[in-house]
Amino acid sequence: MSPNAPAPLSAGAPWIVMKFGGTSVATLPRWQNIRELVSSRRAEGARVLVVVSALTGITDALKQLCAQEDKGKRIEAYQAIAQRHYDLLDHMQLAAPETLAERLRELARLAEEGPALLGELAWSALVQAHGELMSSALGAAFLSHAGLPTQWVDARECLAAIALPNQNERTKLLSAMVEAKPDPALNARLEKLGEVFITQGFIARESQSRTVLLGRGGSDTSASYFGALLKAQRVEIWTDVAGMFTANPRQVPGARLLQKLDYEEAQEIASTGAKVLHPRCLSPLREPRVPMLIKDTNRPELEGTVIGPEVREHAPSVKAISARKGITLVSMESVGMWQQVGFLSDVFAHFKQHGLSVDLISSAETNVTVSLDPTENLLDSDAVAALASDLAKVCRVKVIAPCAAITMVGRGMRSMLHTLSSVLAEFGQLRVHLISQSSNNLNLTFVVDESVVDELVPRLHEMLIAAGALRTDDSALFGPSWQSLYGSGETVMAADAWWRAECRDQLLALAAEATPRYVYHLPTVRRQARELKTLTAVDRMHYAVKANTHPAILRALAEEGFGFECVSPGELKAVMAVVPETAPLLFTPNFAPREDYAWALTTRAAVSLDSLYPLEHWGEVFRGREIVLRVDLGRGLGHHEKVRTGGSGSKFGLPVDQLDAFLRLADTHGVVVRGLHAHLGSGILDVKHWGEVYSQLASIAERIGSVAFLDIGGGLGVPSHPGEARLDIAALDETLRKVKAAYPHYQLWMEPGRYLVADAGALITRVTQQKGKGSWRYLGVDTGMNSLIRPALYDAWHEIVNLTRLDEAATALYQVVGPICESGDVIGSDRRLPEAREGDVVLIAQAGAYGKVMASPYNLRDEAEEVILE
Ligand code: ADP
Ligand code: ASP
Ligand code: MG
Repeated sequence: MSPNAPAPLSAGAPWIVMKFGGTSVATLPRWQNIRELVSSRRAEGARVLVVVSALTGITDALKQLCAQEDKGKRIEAYQAIAQRHYDLLDHMQLAAPETLAERLRELARLAEEGPALLGELAWSALVQAHGELMSSALGAAFLSHAGLPTQWVDARECLAAIALPNQNERTKLLSAMVEAKPDPALNARLEKLGEVFITQGFIARESQSRTVLLGRGGSDTSASYFGALLKAQRVEIWTDVAGMFTANPRQVPGARLLQKLDYEEAQEIASTGAKVLHPRCLSPLREPRVPMLIKDTNRPELEGTVIGPEVREHAPSVKAISARKGITLVSMESVGMWQQVGFLSDVFAHFKQHGLSVDLISSAETNVTVSLDPTENLLDSDAVAALASDLAKVCRVKVIAPCAAITMVGRGMRSMLHTLSSVLAEFGQLRVHLISQSSNNLNLTFVVDESVVDELVPRLHEMLIAAGALRTDDSALFGPSWQSLYGSGETVMAADAWWRAECRDQLLALAAEATPRYVYHLPTVRRQARELKTLTAVDRMHYAVKANTHPAILRALAEEGFGFECVSPGELKAVMAVVPETAPLLFTPNFAPREDYAWALTTRAAVSLDSLYPLEHWGEVFRGREIVLRVDLGRGLGHHEKVRTGGSGSKFGLPVDQLDAFLRLADTHGVVVRGLHAHLGSGILDVKHWGEVYSQLASIAERIGSVAFLDIGGGLGVPSHPGEARLDIAALDETLRKVKAAYPHYQLWMEPGRYLVADAGALITRVTQQKGKGSWRYLGVDTGMNSLIRPALYDAWHEIVNLTRLDEAATALYQVVGPICESGDVIGSDRRLPEAREGDVVLIAQAGAYGKVMASPYNLRDEAEEVILE
């Protein structure tokens, strides 16, 4: 024994089961991580059972081998598979161990022999089982060689598949289930053999001792079966991502890590499409109450997800959105069917007979529609066609495919419907084939055409957060975003906010003098401005002054070299009063009266038009002038319907199909289109967006000829939740440089507003009263929608803190409301805050943009005054 080896384990030492997925076992560096991780668990005083998947891609390769009718092709496929394993051994500087050599010989024999002897399904199962048999043999050799003696265990000797009613041969062999009760005999047998073991995921044996599979991705379930058999202390799933996220992080980079889940919720997320866990892998753990931990093999320092029996009390929240593709809908139509005794039973008998299990159901007087999920059914077109032809005997059948099911998961979905209105509105433009609400109240599912999901899911995820339905402010539950953990972008660190540390005392003193007050932190404005100045591809930056017209902010931005974009004569005058004459100005009004344009043309501002009307009716006003044309690129973007400024649902911009008419009018009046402009909305975090706008504008500009600059608008998103990823300015720079290189003859202009000032402002207010109503607690403060209308208007989320009690535990759950006589006067709902007292100072963050400028005298409450911190 080496000097620092841990003490030997006694009988009865706890077990930890560690499952490593395909990518985790495919390379030498990952195996080095596995070695470290297994040793650390062993050092905790636990026996360790390692469960492995096949090297990534090998199960697919084995399936392809099985699909080859030609023996020569099968042998070729075998050789490529064997080579993958030899290559890894080479990297490990290991000779092939006999356990692996034996597997390779058997696989070669199976490839040569083909399915004739064993039968198609049994042969295919045995061939596919070799992926895990080989990876585990290789792993045992590596770990033992690396100083961690590891026993190779054949999973088929431990996991016995059970016979299920209505199981056909296919499901029996390729999608088997095991009943895993604590098995003291297995425990005793292994205890005698050693301390660290390795076995295969994905495989088991059936009653005739044939090898069976647990379904694609089934290694997770193997780990759980072993966890239950050995009544392990915990089961750890080690994969290529740090846990279960609120959406598939490869599809939604802003998806948040779910730090804690109970079995039911995790189960629901897994079975509705989150591939990170096999849908069957949680049920074996429930009865023995074995917790599960999901971790990233390559980043073991990241927290991961813990799944256990405890149901945590928290504000109701959607936990995740998942999608399943490859869904087939079967719609069955017959007159008066619903009332007919036994109709459903007749219909479902056909599904049973074809070995197909039904997932979602929706019914009407003359129609029943059900969905078939490919993860539960070994679906192929033949199986569906055979079913349809049988069903046609009792009703009219329509098969709708390919569909996708999009599911929002959360405990108590029915009580959250009111928070989902803006999210549900998104489905308004789509064909929704079926809606289903699970009877356990854990999910709400929409079946739509498969082609729309890739684009829809990221959008829905963003909207769930914006609408406060996915409560990412609950930091005990929602961890950082995938992007912030894995991407290059910086994240929003709530702890860094100027109002939290640097200026807190000053803010408390200001509040003691008077509330409500808007306080602006100029260093933050300057920091944001300087950051945007690093966008080297941009020739001119204009501050969209509608966000905040405070003279000190205008002055500071002029000093930083910004121009100014104004939408009214009032804004232009306010700007011209404080900024130097050299600062560039843009006038981009919408549905403005004739005299606004006439006046603006007397100033130095570049004037923009966004409809035919001004040239049609007031042509003389513009005669011989240069103008900017704002176009509508046919789509809008942004965090809320009301901030999207493109597409026919929005009043902005000239539709591209009216461009020729516009150019004819311009010609008539000698008007020159010098610039093109588009602004699709606000709160955009995807940097590709501005590149696309530039390219689209450039291709329109090519048709016009006189254009010198392209203004790609603003809309740069400012994430509001802690841990959310910031806009990646370096990536934006790269995108813009690329598109500009394609059309270098245009100047590139931008006009950010919110990005410059949102974080720089806070609204400070004071607690007035509290009220309990049923289970709700209202916390009143001395201003509300009269000062800050964004929550009421856009469902905007602003962080709210009790500045007086910043360090106290947030034990209360409040609806934070203002004094305005409107039910919509809610600044934040379900906020976790410390128990508050009358007079406490409450700070509403990120109020620098569209705060004061949208304030109103409604109810004749005092308006919040503005204070500048230099
Ligand atoms: P392994 O090979 O380790 O079993 P899988 O590929 O089966 O890994 O599962 C991990 C993958 O699951 C992730 O890389 C991710 O692409 C995908 N995934 C889908 N939905 C989610 C989700 N909600 N949270 C985390 N990962 C998810
Ligand atoms: N190797 C199997 C598959 O690819 C099982 C697993 O990886 O979990 O489906
Ligand atoms: Mg998997």
